[in-house]
Amino acid sequence: MPVINGVSKPAGVRCIQLDAQDRCQIFGHPDRPAVCSSLQPSEQMCGESREQAMRWLGWMEQATAP
Ligand code: SF4
Repeated sequence: MPVINGVSKPAGVRCIQLDAQDRCQIFGHPDRPAVCSSLQPSEQMCGESREQAMRWLGWMEQATAP
């Protein structure tokens, strides 16, 4: 289970660092997990809307679940 700022969360659970506008509150901060900093968004991954991105993320979670 990933640990973000001392709090672990399972896949599919909203990150505690997201604000009400779905923005990362620790963006650019050294405490931001390396996995977050290394993620490079792409049109293929994000699509054209939040709904498309969430569908893709849901598929990836299912495809990589243990
Ligand atoms: S970038 Fe990482 S720390 Fe920031 S909201 Fe997303 S998952 Fe959480």
